Amino acid sequence: MTEKNMAQQNNNKRKRIWSLIKNLPAYHARKSFLQALASSEVVLVVGETGCGKTTQLPQQALDVGYRSIVTTQPRRVAAISVAERVCLERGVTLGSQIGYVVRFDDKTSSETQLRYVTDGVLLREAITDPDLSRYDLIFVDEAHERSLQTDIVLGVVKRALTNRRGSLKVVVMSAFLDTDKFRSFFSSFDLSILEMEGRLYPIDIFYIKTPVEDYVEAAVVACLQIHFEESFPGDILVFLTGQEEIESAARMIKERFDNYCSYLEKNFLPCSENKHTTLYHPLRVYPLFAAMSPDAQRAALKPCRNQFRKAILATNIAETSITIPGIKYVVDCGFSKQRVVSSMKCLDALRVSPISQAQALQRAGRAGRECPGKCFRLYTKDDFDKLSIHPVPEILVSDLVSVTLQLMAMGMENPFKLELLDNPRTESFQYALEVLLSIGALDSSMKLNAIGKQMAFFPLSPMLSRSLLESITLNCSSSMLALCSILSTESVFQLSSQIRESAFQAWNKFISSLGDHFTLLQVFQSYLSIPEHERIQWCKEHYLNYRSLATANNIYCQLSQLLQQQKYSSSFMSHLYEEESEQDRLGRCLVAGFFRQSVRIGSNCQLYTLFEPLQVDIHPSSVLHRRLSSKEEGYLIYHELIWTTKPYIRTVMRVKEEWLLQHGGNCFQLES
Ligand code: ADP
Ligand code: MG
Repeated sequence: MTEKNMAQQNNNKRKRIWSLIKNLPAYHARKSFLQALASSEVVLVVGETGCGKTTQLPQQALDVGYRSIVTTQPRRVAAISVAERVCLERGVTLGSQIGYVVRFDDKTSSETQLRYVTDGVLLREAITDPDLSRYDLIFVDEAHERSLQTDIVLGVVKRALTNRRGSLKVVVMSAFLDTDKFRSFFSSFDLSILEMEGRLYPIDIFYIKTPVEDYVEAAVVACLQIHFEESFPGDILVFLTGQEEIESAARMIKERFDNYCSYLEKNFLPCSENKHTTLYHPLRVYPLFAAMSPDAQRAALKPCRNQFRKAILATNIAETSITIPGIKYVVDCGFSKQRVVSSMKCLDALRVSPISQAQALQRAGRAGRECPGKCFRLYTKDDFDKLSIHPVPEILVSDLVSVTLQLMAMGMENPFKLELLDNPRTESFQYALEVLLSIGALDSSMKLNAIGKQMAFFPLSPMLSRSLLESITLNCSSSMLALCSILSTESVFQLSSQIRESAFQAWNKFISSLGDHFTLLQVFQSYLSIPEHERIQWCKEHYLNYRSLATANNIYCQLSQLLQQQKYSSSFMSHLYEEESEQDRLGRCLVAGFFRQSVRIGSNCQLYTLFEPLQVDIHPSSVLHRRLSSKEEGYLIYHELIWTTKPYIRTVMRVKEEWLLQHGGNCFQLES
């Protein structure tokens, strides 16, 4: 294509986009939004998903002269895709005037005036700049979700507003909002509320008549039924709770659809006069969940121009934060993965739980964006009526260790004092302090010490930071960095039912009898030893996810730089355990961070967490799954606890008792 043609094409594209923008409620609300912004310190904006809050309002502020704007998002996918969209709308390259920052990926420059960042990134910035003084305008998006980080951002932003009277403005945006609650939270500031009307077409809602036992199966049936019986075109959006469910539903839909099609093809012949009707419309299935690569996510979001019907199987990332064009049918399983509501302390686990009514409305709303739609709920009307109205604020049910460390690193000696929308139970903060003390981040007067400050410096969980710091002492930081990097990425192993056998064979050489940590490390180190131009091929041959490994490599480089900046003096290093293998020293370092996540192997391979009386199982994805011998005794540590049908530990390794005794923060004693 010539340059002229390309310019012409881009021009046409922008014209098309521009005509779309002019129809958005946010475009029509421009004047009232800018007036509200001029006259108040805080603006609350409430408007349906898709009405233009995230993409338009920050641009409008930019156009009237705000020069340092940040918009927070609860999820990285949204931060990235929205920044890209805004760049397209303005015809600028990503990273110039507009950019994004998510953990381990910074697409901004000194020119950047509008940044889209995750909540977590803004909190990290607040460690070195607690009043967020580099910004003159902060948008806090998706406030209705009440995620832990968003709630903390709101607290930090409120504090900055108080400290910087007059030089900071804040816009809180959301698809639906408990307006009274937010109004009283910001009652000491001039506040305006802007409600934008949606442009929703009617949506017919259908409930299932009798409760289903297996909502994945029900979703598969509903999806195929819609495809064959409802009008074409019109894409289907199915809400499920996580990657595994989505992948198995995707397989089931494909298999059944293919079977049905081959049955039709085998048994029927279209009459040659049927020019406009086909035997069936093609159906393509696209997964959509947070751990997928941005490219794969883009593929799911791309319009298909009615050549086939799309069925997008998504987690609640599709609920509000990203725009999916073309959806006419929604299937809602009624559940999502949420933090557990539990009195148990050290279990920061996700559990599949019922959504709230507000979320159910939101999900249904995805069907009526462009034309009248239908929503099929895989639960009964009775069950809907029993759902809570608003989502439970995550801060009430979360482990606060990470945020407590961050707040203390921002200079708050007493994180209890931060004003929040909902105050977590005092025990939650107290517990977080207890953990921080035991992993060495606090001194005896409960103040952040040098190690704690170091821990907050790395963009890793406090536990992983602790392991990294320990590895400097024990002189194995290079491998520990590699481990931290690979543990910070997702799904290195690619598995599908067709390639099961050969994949397991290819992975065999990486498997460490100690468990998943060293298996992953082995994969990553082998990957790094392959010349760069051969890596894609190597990954294919070994059924490994190239993108995850490339991401791990990128993280590895960034963490190495951060580590070099710290210039640890030689007094930091010890010569302890020098005679031991590097693997053992790494094991000790992992224990220093994760001893609270240790598990005792009891008789018959029954596993009990040491800090809470909970029986757990090893997740089927682990190399230690079914590999413990029946007489085995000893201990394991895990990286993650997930709760599906029961509690599972994922990414697991065997550890020695002496490591727990020596690196377990004085929490362990020999049994006498
Ligand atoms: P809100 O934040 O209110 O949910 P957005 O600002 O994200 O709305 O989106 C506004 C409109 O911009 C959408 O209705 C859609 O038409 C368009 N849009 C946004 N992102 C994309 C995208 N990635 N691809 C296509 N259209 C998009
Ligand atoms: Mg939005």
